[in-house]
Amino acid sequence: MQHNLSLVHSSVPKAKIWAVVKANAYGHGLDRSMRAFADADGLALIEPDSALGLREKGWGKPILLLEGFFHERDLPAIAASNLAFAVHCNEQIAMLEKTRLNQQVCVHLKMNTGMNRLGFKPHEYRAAFERLRTIPSVGSISFMTHFANAEEKGHVRMPVEEQYVRFQRGSDGLPGERNLSNSAAILLHPGLHTDWVRPGVMLYGGTPGNKTALEFGLKPAMTLNSEIIQIVDIEAGDAVGYGSLFVAPKPMRVGVVACGYADGYPRCAPDGTPILVEGVRTRLVGRVSMDMITVDLTPVPNAHVGSLVTLWGEGLPIDDVAEAAGTVGYELMCALSVRPRIVER
Ligand SMILES: *Cc1c(COP(=O)(O)O)cnc(C)c1O
Repeated sequence: MQHNLSLVHSSVPKAKIWAVVKANAYGHGLDRSMRAFADADGLALIEPDSALGLREKGWGKPILLLEGFFHERDLPAIAASNLAFAVHCNEQIAMLEKTRLNQQVCVHLKMNTGMNRLGFKPHEYRAAFERLRTIPSVGSISFMTHFANAEEKGHVRMPVEEQYVRFQRGSDGLPGERNLSNSAAILLHPGLHTDWVRPGVMLYGGTPGNKTALEFGLKPAMTLNSEIIQIVDIEAGDAVGYGSLFVAPKPMRVGVVACGYADGYPRCAPDGTPILVEGVRTRLVGRVSMDMITVDLTPVPNAHVGSLVTLWGEGLPIDDVAEAAGTVGYELMCALSVRPRIVER
């Protein structure tokens, strides 16, 4: 994680870094990421409770709530703990106007530049800024947007360039810091002018785009390992697992691995999803169960009960597994359940 953070630094040397640690640091643990990202300029996340927890654990640098505050009643604690927050709609501004706070707050005014999720449209942006500026408890205002397609160059519907131009126009001349790029924008559009960047998935060694983590120089932070707990010899025509979905075309050895969807392994992973056994790349066969999966041991004749199995991470990019399962590495990381034992190296 430290290595990946330093790679953000070298990609955008002038920008300050919000290390994004939402969703339990994409499944990697908040405490761990607080230590790993000690050199980041700030931590950004969604969950106000986790943000307050980071303060209690001693994180003294900036913290940013990426979706802002959800309820007026949360504002006093957010202000008292000096949490910066996004403001994306007029309802939030109205709540700020109504609430008397003992501390001044740092606001990141969000612009909807084409993703049509959160934020003010460019033509509403200045009015939102002026309204915020008159609120006594608003100490500083920064400017923020989020890209829909930074992992693709020249996206047909909404390219980064178009969103960037809209952002520049909408915020032209407004005094304050700019806060733009996610991992994809950092890796593929490092030239965008922005004071702050917001890397998430790249810090954990996943990639948002079509290049692999290795090509970008990123290292996997999480490796999900297990072991073979039984080996079964099956005949041609024998079926494996629930639904009897996989049918052996020839006699083969199947390894039963202690890992299933209750650990966070995706149930939708189809036959052929890559898996390492003793470091050898083989494939999932049969349906993923709650506590087990089954693997083809044909390419690993020396496999035995106790053989090391890698589901993703070191030696097997999480993005490869995600692609086979029809999802993204992000989802696999965040979906890691409470069952796997965490071993820190
Ligand atoms: C999650 C998130 C990020 C980080 O995105 P990655 O693709 O993981 O780098 C950045 N900005 C906002 C607003 C986010 O919600």
